[in-house]
Amino acid sequence: METLGTLCAWCSQPSAARVYGSVQPSEYDEPELLSLIICEHCRYPSLVSQTPDDYERGWGPATNLWPHGPRSLNPAIPAAIRGELLEARTCYSSKAYRATTVMVGRCLEALCVDKGVTSKPLQAGLQRLAATGAIDQRLLEWAHGLRALRNDGAHHSGERITADDARDALELAEALLDYLYVFTSKYEAFKTRRMEQSLASRSTALPAGQAPATSTSPSGVDPHAVGTNSDAPVEVGHSAEGTTLTSA
Ligand SMILES: [Zn+2]
Repeated sequence: METLGTLCAWCSQPSAARVYGSVQPSEYDEPELLSLIICEHCRYPSLVSQTPDDYERGWGPATNLWPHGPRSLNPAIPAAIRGELLEARTCYSSKAYRATTVMVGRCLEALCVDKGVTSKPLQAGLQRLAATGAIDQRLLEWAHGLRALRNDGAHHSGERITADDARDALELAEALLDYLYVFTSKYEAFKTRRMEQSLASRSTALPAGQAPATSTSPSGVDPHAVGTNSDAPVEVGHSAEGTTLTSA
């Protein structure tokens, strides 16, 4: 049976765990392999996740999802960025705190590039995202306040990075990813749904036989767009051509 090298989440020992089954969810944007494994020492089961390694020749290191794994990352976050954050978490759980901040820095750089911001250094990129309204001002202040990110773990500064510094950087990265990819898309979907509901209820509230205004409505929404909403009731005389109510 296939084995997978991992740090067991139950007994904390390095383990050549047996892989009992794997699945690659097809609805994810980028490949991710989920596997059920059994530890060679304590025989307890765990669920782990792997993303492609840097050379895309195989799967990268396994990250524990269950038991007591980190909070799972929303699939709305691009897989490449999720991969950087998962690696940062692996560094943190291995007590490699400086490496954690390097990976968090890479993750945030990838996030800036994905949003079309190439300003360097990283703090300037985040500043740009805040200026365009893509991120909340409080997230920018949080980033500015982080010593570990300010000093850039990638360059030798001689300064010690503590476990708290590394955890702060990880938490900020998670908050930024949630804000940009999860909160924003859910909020936009909510606003769209609410606008569609309001258009549908306005259309049904009209007295029988009265056609809605044919010019642009006060809200600035094209009334013709109502007909494209499959949930909205379609009434005779509402078509864009307005030809259906001619008398004989
Ligand atoms: Zn074990």
